[in-house]
Amino acid sequence: MTRRRKIYEGKAKVLFEGPEPGTLVQYFKDDATAFNNEKKGVITGKGVLNNRISEYLMLRLAEVGIPTHFVRRLNMREQLVKEVEIVPVEVVVRNIAAGSICKRFNIEEGTPLPRSIVEYYYKNDELGDPLISEEHITAFGWAAPPEIDDMLSLSLRINDFLTGLFLGIGLRLIDFKLEYGRLYDENEQMRIVLADEITPDGCRLWDVETNEKMDKDRFRRDMGGVAEAYQEVARRLGITPESGQQDIKGPSTIQ
Ligand code: UDP
Repeated sequence: MTRRRKIYEGKAKVLFEGPEPGTLVQYFKDDATAFNNEKKGVITGKGVLNNRISEYLMLRLAEVGIPTHFVRRLNMREQLVKEVEIVPVEVVVRNIAAGSICKRFNIEEGTPLPRSIVEYYYKNDELGDPLISEEHITAFGWAAPPEIDDMLSLSLRINDFLTGLFLGIGLRLIDFKLEYGRLYDENEQMRIVLADEITPDGCRLWDVETNEKMDKDRFRRDMGGVAEAYQEVARRLGITPESGQQDIKGPSTIQ
């Protein structure tokens, strides 16, 4: 295989130049980080599973009209995506209190929130991704008001859809993080599309019956069984790599 130009290397993925202009190849690593890079490790097989999980979820979201950067999966660890200009804002949607919101407001983990809460964080590792408001986003020019509107309404639609999808396979979607990008069409018209990934690296997923954590919190808290949890999410979605070419058979609903 010819060597491709590396565009960017992040904590869990590498972006390479794509085969055609306007495309990138997104490579999923096994590396894991937490607590703003203080904790580092490797979750063997995570990249393969996350590539499949994100492919599956992006395709399902596209079916319900969510614009995404995803084009197609290329192989075990790589997917072709459209090149976008990443908005430097992480959008977090929360349904049940967990993680940073518990500390911030002294809420017990697992408390259902009165309604889904959307938060914005400035995507900046040096600053540790600080919590920001719409005022900061517009004042500092990170996104324009109509772009914030698009990100907010898309995030709530994504939350509704994914909450139902995961509930159907016995998982509660506690919270998750999304990233968006600007995609320019032939007429230089811009639209906001879902970018990055949707995987257990950036979601909290708890088993409906046992409340067992099936996400990166297992790594953050040294709980063990991290790779197994990601594998189980993929299995319930019906997309484990072992199931071969017919692997995108969809979730099997449990009673
Ligand atoms: N999250 C993420 N990347 C970040 C920060 C948060 O993917 O840089 C996800 C995290 O996995 C969780 C949600 O966003 O599903 C909310 O995270 P929280 O603010 O509670 O922070 P954490 O406890 O993960 O530090």
